[in-house]
Amino acid sequence: MIKEKTKLYKALLLDLDGTLLDLDIEKFIPAYIEALSGKFNNFIRQDNFIKHLFGATNKMVKNEDPAKKNETVFYDEFCRNIGISFEQLKPLIEDFYRNDFPNLSCWGQVHPHAQSVIEAAKKNNLTLVLATNPIFPAVAILQRLSWSGLSAEQFQLITTMENMHFCKPNPAYYLEITRNIKCPPENCLMAGNDTVEDLSASKAGIDTFLVEDFILQRSEKEPISNYRGSLKDLALFIDRLKN
Ligand SMILES: [Mg+2]
Repeated sequence: MIKEKTKLYKALLLDLDGTLLDLDIEKFIPAYIEALSGKFNNFIRQDNFIKHLFGATNKMVKNEDPAKKNETVFYDEFCRNIGISFEQLKPLIEDFYRNDFPNLSCWGQVHPHAQSVIEAAKKNNLTLVLATNPIFPAVAILQRLSWSGLSAEQFQLITTMENMHFCKPNPAYYLEITRNIKCPPENCLMAGNDTVEDLSASKAGIDTFLVEDFILQRSEKEPISNYRGSLKDLALFIDRLKN
């Protein structure tokens, strides 16, 4: 059941994977890691590559230094540990995202209600943010967005590893968004399928809508959100806002 609206929302923050995009994450992540690590066969053993990929990602997610972008934290750590300079690494990464990443689109499908959420938000003049965890470069996020049938022009802000200094579930990530779009937290609504990464927006003073179609429940505890329902319910909820 969806509770009645109590606040004036001016911005809608939307998660991508498992929310706007029907993504088979169980298949996508192993296929992604296999394909990416395969690019580096000539430089480093695959198990070592994967270990350092996770290690550098973890360091980026835990970063609290507001002066360092996610991209900087990740590549500083990753390049040091695998012993490849960023200048050597960059063309390989670019080649991967241009030529290999598109093959992973087989794991993503258009969600039939994604477009209606966007249309309802536009109708009510909400600022739209693609609040996907900024642990990926823009090139990977824009491709996944296209798998969902949506386009970058529909969003005022898309969070990527190049433009953000924090990651989910750090509340600082959500506060950085509110500063960027110049909308106070109390006028924002975050919608996503992850009970930890998306609902942590509440720690930044942002109301939350748990999208249950592909819910990622991270603990036994009952998740706490202001609202919950399917993506279709979210579209109806946004449509009925009287801004
Ligand atoms: Mg998600």
